[in-house]
Amino acid sequence: MLAEIDVAIIGAGIIGLAAAREIAQGKKGLFVFEKNRTFGLETSSRNSEVIHAGIYYPEDSLKAKLCVEGKNLLYKLCDKHNIAYKKCGKIIVAADENEINWLEELYEQGRKNGVDDLVLLSRTEVKKLEPNIEARAGLLSPSSGFFDSYNLLKFLYSQAREKGTEFVFGTEVTGIERAGAKYKVQIKDRDGISDFAAHIVVNCAGLHSDRIAQLAGIDIVKAGYKLHYCKGEYFSLDSKYKNLVSRLIYPPPEQAGHGVHWRQALDGRVLLGPSAHYVEAIDYVVDETHKQYFCNSAKRFIPFVELEDLAPESAGIRPKLQGPEDDFRDFVITHEEKAGFPGLINLIGIESPGLTASLAIARYVGRIMS
Ligand SMILES: Cc1cc2nc3c(=O)[nH]c(=O)nc-3n(C[C@H](O)[C@H](O)[C@H](O)COP(=O)(O)OP(=O)(O)OC[C@H]3O[C@@H](n4cnc5c(N)ncnc54)[C@H](O)[C@@H]3O)c2cc1C
Repeated sequence: MLAEIDVAIIGAGIIGLAAAREIAQGKKGLFVFEKNRTFGLETSSRNSEVIHAGIYYPEDSLKAKLCVEGKNLLYKLCDKHNIAYKKCGKIIVAADENEINWLEELYEQGRKNGVDDLVLLSRTEVKKLEPNIEARAGLLSPSSGFFDSYNLLKFLYSQAREKGTEFVFGTEVTGIERAGAKYKVQIKDRDGISDFAAHIVVNCAGLHSDRIAQLAGIDIVKAGYKLHYCKGEYFSLDSKYKNLVSRLIYPPPEQAGHGVHWRQALDGRVLLGPSAHYVEAIDYVVDETHKQYFCNSAKRFIPFVELEDLAPESAGIRPKLQGPEDDFRDFVITHEEKAGFPGLINLIGIESPGLTASLAIARYVGRIMS
């Protein structure tokens, strides 16, 4: 007979950890399976660590709702548990008339989403707040900031453990099969392959979440779950730029990302990025030939930045449901009961603002499970 557990969460990124902490309370036999040697080694540690306000996304989308809710939960949790953050605010800057129109649209979109502290800024007002920035106009978002995401991961991991979650690292889920009211889950670790039975499977597998859904028997093309990988690279700037800006500085958003922005990390380094280009495979190499593009992006608003001031820093990959030619796609967070898979919860396409929204996503998962 197969060993039996209540809940199997696949993936120990920020979403799997937050979900485990949320669900652990009421469930015995909650296990998190992670193919890497520890938690948070993929997208959750390869991002901008920005706490987004919730401006960009269509009204009533999960991205908008969970970002606004998640932002508030995250600031509260950081305060309560001494996780470092800076609510420094952000200015989205416009360089020409076209972009000024975008700012006005973003202002309206943000207000519809419940971001009610946005302020449109004139050129003079931008200059007053950020003397080194050249812009025709700006949109100030006071509730944006950035935080220490590693300490959040660590905190969620230890809370989930305290509540009884078992973490199984170095273990890849390689098969999922409906077996009556349960799922037979196949895992591979250094001792080989084995199976167990789970009543509930929560798919938090990030870049591989479409594959997990497919393993469970879902037609991911028909369901619209096929992921596209979109790489974002970062370059760091010479330390002489350390105190050049005091807020996050963003250009108007691009089709696939929020635009190459300018921010200070908690350790003082100034980072530019992420860019956004679709790729076929996962690799985290920063292509040095992209330096000129980053330099040009920075120069639009800070003209005295020079090419030699930039050094390659890091890269992350967005798990996007939206392909290069597609319109907006929302997070998929769904109990697949209606598709014939009771007890299977899929989280697919959890790209930005997934970090900001993580605590709200976990609550949402808790609700759809009960
Ligand atoms: C460049 C970039 C910048 C970003 N910036 C921001 C930002 O500033 N603010 C923000 O809010 N969001 C941001 N995001 C989004 C945010 O980082 C993600 O939404 C979030 O980290 C997703 O977390 P996750 O747990 O779903 O995925 P992951 O962190 O990738 O975790 C998934 C885990 O599942 C494991 N796994 C996969 N398959 C299996 C398997 N078969 N068996 C066992 N384990 C498996 C993986 O090893 C991995 O550890 C950014 C993303 C990128 C790429």
